[in-house]
Amino acid sequence: MKQRLSILGSTGSIGVQTLDIVRQNQELFEITSLVAGRNWELLARQAIEFDADTVVIADESKYEPLREALKDYPIKVFTGDAAVSEVVRSSTVDVVVNALVGYAGLHPTIAAIEAGKKIALANKETLVVGGDLVMRMAAEKGVPILPIDSEHSAIFQCLVGERSPISRLIVTCSGGALRDVPIEQLRDVTPEQALRHPQWSMGAKITIDSATLVNKGFEVIEAHWLFGIEAERISVLIHPQSIVHSMVEFEDGAIKAQLGTPDMHIPISYALLFPNRARLASERFDFVANPTLTFAEPDRVKYPALDIAYDCMRRGGTAACVMNGANEVAVAAFLGGKCRFTDITASIEYALLKAKFVQRPTLADYEASNEESRALAAEFLKLK
Ligand code: NDP
Repeated sequence: MKQRLSILGSTGSIGVQTLDIVRQNQELFEITSLVAGRNWELLARQAIEFDADTVVIADESKYEPLREALKDYPIKVFTGDAAVSEVVRSSTVDVVVNALVGYAGLHPTIAAIEAGKKIALANKETLVVGGDLVMRMAAEKGVPILPIDSEHSAIFQCLVGERSPISRLIVTCSGGALRDVPIEQLRDVTPEQALRHPQWSMGAKITIDSATLVNKGFEVIEAHWLFGIEAERISVLIHPQSIVHSMVEFEDGAIKAQLGTPDMHIPISYALLFPNRARLASERFDFVANPTLTFAEPDRVKYPALDIAYDCMRRGGTAACVMNGANEVAVAAFLGGKCRFTDITASIEYALLKAKFVQRPTLADYEASNEESRALAAEFLKLK
């Protein structure tokens, strides 16, 4: 039986790579629905190529051109945020690939859990914002959440077949585009510089998050929720070559690592096919040609976002939701040339200082916290 997929964020970096895997494994997958934000042209091409039943474009102003482009095909076209969550509930969907970016991913994840769908999760913000609620709901419903993020996929792969307790998770980190830029120069970094990631080609938001190390902080929070490990037992190591994707240390001192060339097709296909693996034609890692793998402590003065994320994880409640909301606004402002690189972390600190804190949030509390933190970041950055 083929797996019937709903791909949320099909026009993005992870979405396009997921469709590569579907294209190369047509006997294993079929596409039920595709969802995008604004890029209706690519969405229309994808829907035709993969013979999708349904497409959703979140931006309502793109509905008409999309509908027009698909008028000769038997493809249902919807628009708006509510439709994004609705489409995952369809009885013709087996697996939801959540490759949306940002807070927008939370509600569709919850809808997928409510509908009992297996989730392949790239949207880390789902767990950063609402990990407590999401993991509780998934456990109650018996819904598997399989990580696509490469570090979490690595940890997940290291844990297969293990029954003994974990003593430590070691999350590796390339150091992002600004790894070799001195702290005094960070203030003047341009979006073009910060978008030049040395190892991974990804969407703009996660590339900036990698440069501030907000992304690594988010991954620590994501690991905490996915694997049930407290902050003190998750460490971060700078590993510029991005070959070791993360590691697990056990109580006997043994450490398992997952290695490979940096290629998101590997974790995406593992999430879709677990416990099997895909046959991929990706580049193989050559140990002899690359004999040196290096590791270092992250510079916590240069990258305060890492400790902020640890603090948010320890505080729990809405703290990480506030960090995420403020970060989303500040990253968009930085990319739009409206603030400095260093204002991103400063906006997060400001929002965390001022935002209301709810210890046991409901979904409505997350919603309010997201709105408040976005408004606080806009206030700090003096955005109109
Ligand atoms: P991109 O920015 O490349 O893609 C985001 C996708 O989401 C696009 O299809 C976009 O549509 C769509 N989208 C954005 N906002 C909305 C919205 N409000 N409603 C519906 N659709 C929306 O992001 P990435 O693929 O890089 O990242 C996706 C997620 O995966 C993020 O959470 C990221 O942190 C995570 N991740 C990404 C990795 C990577 O290698 N890229 C690695 C590990 C994790 P459109 O373009 O049409 O506007």
